[in-house]
Amino acid sequence: MLVIQCPWCGERAETEFNYGGEADIVRPADTEQLSDREWGDYVFMRKNTFGVHREQWVHTHGCRRWFIAERDTRSYQFTHYETIGESGKEAS
Ligand SMILES: [Zn+2]
Repeated sequence: MLVIQCPWCGERAETEFNYGGEADIVRPADTEQLSDREWGDYVFMRKNTFGVHREQWVHTHGCRRWFIAERDTRSYQFTHYETIGESGKEAS
């Protein structure tokens, strides 16, 4: 069983969480000026990281808060957690 550490609730089973995709995707400021290709890149194109990946998670069956985690996609080991907009802490 994969254990995820919610920054507010502590360690919980993966089944309490939902994955929210790659972190740090910034919505373009002026979407009216984007080409179809640029809009498509923003909406659909994501990294396929082999290694440490920054991703969003939500504690759906707990505090229902979003946070950012860094996870190594090769081992599923979480290495870092942070609340959105704040600096993080290393996983224990
Ligand atoms: Zn929580």
